[in-house]
Amino acid sequence: MVNAPVEQQERLLKVQEADLAIQRAERTLRSLPEDIALAANAEAIENAQRTVVLTRAEVSDAQRAVAKTDDEVQAVRARAARDEERVAAAGVSAKDVQALQSELEVLARRQGELEDVELEAMERLEAVQSAADAAVVELEKLKEDRENLERAREAAAQIAEESIVAARLDREAFGAGLDPALVKLYERIRDAQGGVGAAALVGTTCQGCHMTLGAGDMAAIRSAAPEAVVRCEECGRILVRTGA
Ligand SMILES: [Zn+2]
Repeated sequence: MVNAPVEQQERLLKVQEADLAIQRAERTLRSLPEDIALAANAEAIENAQRTVVLTRAEVSDAQRAVAKTDDEVQAVRARAARDEERVAAAGVSAKDVQALQSELEVLARRQGELEDVELEAMERLEAVQSAADAAVVELEKLKEDRENLERAREAAAQIAEESIVAARLDREAFGAGLDPALVKLYERIRDAQGGVGAAALVGTTCQGCHMTLGAGDMAAIRSAAPEAVVRCEECGRILVRTGA
């Protein structure tokens, strides 16, 4: 049986409080919501970067398609202009004029078709260009979000770190001069019992496990010397008799 002055037993409850505060702040630091948001943001940025690359490639393809049909339209126009010059020239036979005119009809149809194709290509270019622009805007927005999240994360981490420092100072102050045997017992129980090694006895209830102690256990506790370190029969934690 470990013995410790009543004052030390009472101080153990303050040590317990400080240990719980350290645990809470460390848990907060490990699971900052900003870290989860930053991971999601990083994934979104990767996706957005892929979309930017893809839509830029689509813009290049569409630009090439527009240029190609435009070249074809220009070639047909040039051919038609040459034919018209020849029709108008002096000394062309009636047979040649007829041949040239039927070619001009074919060229006019072809030009109409190509102009439709070109219009479609230009519309497609416009659509993929606006998709590419939107992708860039989205990526910029996500990068801005990242900066804001990083700032928020830093602020939250700083608060948690300050809480840890403050709780460790409390732990040191309350734990100063405690009997090493008492501390050893407390820490062994604390580590085995989910972080709580010492609890107050309030009335007949252990504040560690919240069980009500039986009459026999209570009688044994009451008859124990004040310096005797008593334990809860239910959970094994150190019971501090606070008089409450
Ligand atoms: Zn208990």
